Amino acid sequence: MKMDSVTAQKELRGIPVYPDIVIGKAHLVDRSKAKILYQCFVNEAQLNREVERFEEALRSVEAQFISLKNKMPDMVKDQAFILDSHLMILKDSMLRDSTINKILEEKINAEWALKKTLEEIRGVFEQIDDDYISKRISDVENVTDRLLRTLSGDSGHSLSDINQRVIIVAHDLSPADTTELNTAKVMGFITDVGGKTSHTAIMAQALEIPAVVGLEHATAFVQDGDLLIVDGTSGVVVINPEDSDIILYQERKLQLQKYRSSIARMSHLPAETPDGHRIAITANIEFLEEVTAAKDYGGEGIGLYRTEFLYLRGKGFPEEEELFEDYREVVEIMRPAPVSIRTLDLGGDKFASETSMSNENNPALGLRAIRFCLREPEIFKVQLRAILRASAFGSIRLMFPMISGLQELLDAKIILDEVKEDLNQEHIPYDNAMEVGIMVEIPSAVTMAEVLARHVDFFSIGTNDLIQYALAIDRVNEHVAYMYQPFHPAILRMIRQVVVAGRNAGIPVSLCGEMAGDPLCISILLGIGLDALSMNARAIPLIKKMVRAIPMEQARADLEKIMLLNTAKEVRTFILQQTRGIFPELEEKGYLLN
Ligand code: PEP
Ligand code: MG
Repeated sequence: MKMDSVTAQKELRGIPVYPDIVIGKAHLVDRSKAKILYQCFVNEAQLNREVERFEEALRSVEAQFISLKNKMPDMVKDQAFILDSHLMILKDSMLRDSTINKILEEKINAEWALKKTLEEIRGVFEQIDDDYISKRISDVENVTDRLLRTLSGDSGHSLSDINQRVIIVAHDLSPADTTELNTAKVMGFITDVGGKTSHTAIMAQALEIPAVVGLEHATAFVQDGDLLIVDGTSGVVVINPEDSDIILYQERKLQLQKYRSSIARMSHLPAETPDGHRIAITANIEFLEEVTAAKDYGGEGIGLYRTEFLYLRGKGFPEEEELFEDYREVVEIMRPAPVSIRTLDLGGDKFASETSMSNENNPALGLRAIRFCLREPEIFKVQLRAILRASAFGSIRLMFPMISGLQELLDAKIILDEVKEDLNQEHIPYDNAMEVGIMVEIPSAVTMAEVLARHVDFFSIGTNDLIQYALAIDRVNEHVAYMYQPFHPAILRMIRQVVVAGRNAGIPVSLCGEMAGDPLCISILLGIGLDALSMNARAIPLIKKMVRAIPMEQARADLEKIMLLNTAKEVRTFILQQTRGIFPELEEKGYLLN
């Protein structure tokens, strides 16, 4: 770290969000440090005017959010629900009525009343023993921040007005702020706060804006107009770099671009090892809008459609027709490639407010996924009908999540048969040969894989959950994140056990957890003998390139050695060395960070 030179060159390290490098001038924006607020007492005659001022601010901010939503770039339209939730907060009586009551009862100015209301709401959220909900306070803060700016006459210094090629430096950017960024002008952004899976990070990825978040002190160190290098591959930000650094990073950027286009050129080639073993590479999607990216990046189908996001988006559960239209479109775009639709996996860190799950102490072990669907067969049937109807328009494979044993699978299949029977009666067409499989993501299902394999057409291993349940690591708890180890020998043995069970029963086995798109895992997964890997669409080109360079014979020989190792650390060291040997460029390009 060069922290003390006269030229004030500094290097900060944060969390890389979108892997690209930009060099440009800093533009400091003060988005979240609210202005210092003062409490003023308002005389009786002015109180109604104060309430009106607050109501005007509500209307104005509502108009701002609606306009932002309408202007959202197509690539991030699927994130519009964030603005919908801001609009709902704006209309919530907790915010509105409580602020108005405070103005009238305590005879104080609107800004101060709003600030007190925010403190009250924060208190309520802190009581909620649910990580997901308690984090939603940031949405309320974003809304109040805008209200306070509007009340103070600050037009908000709209980010969309920035018309120079700059790198935004902010304490925090809300998802709404991010949608306002003029992607033609804004070269990148860096923030003090934020994590890899925050909505802001998701937006940066969708908009393909190089970004580093979680830098902690960026706004303290960076001055407006400073020259910055933002390296979204490693998370390094260099403030006022020396010429030699600029040349170095320009060269790296060029290399990165060349490398990426060389990979992209190969993304439509089959994932076949040099000794002729072919595996399928498919994409994971959460929204219909991602299907095009899945195709563009060379996905040979959709290996996992996480359908629960449709249930979290709006108010109430979607109707059969809405689901059907959505599934049909995905299937038609992908045809003849297959689409694996996973039935509802609500619960865990994803829940809908109208269910009772939100009150559970231990949601990851609670009424999640198939358990919820079996408890609420009417909700389940609506989705099954929609999936079956869509199956008449292309190739659908249906999979049940979180199956823990045979009985649960049989119960789910009985409901599926009932829905088929209803459709028969109504003469509604569907694909009677639609394959039915399960996600193997609970250790008991691994143990029972031989038995389960006789009752399904395929397995899909969900390592995100399998690691969580096998190693007893809450996958959303940052305090135990260091123990979330894909290379744990227990996990590798489990994956192999499922693949062997599938092979013995003659059914294909795919893997759709994050491991599938991790360059360090590829050789192991090839060696174990998976038939398909399903991943974030952007990971596809590199993974295909890797498969095309690793001989199966070598992957198998390496696997034998790996299976003799006893700790995750030993496995990782071994595989890192092997991967560096075959792909020396990957580490330097920031692809081997896990
Ligand atoms: C998994 O658990 O690995 C998986 C793919 O599903 P999700 O991440 O949606 O739980
Ligand atoms: Mg899962």
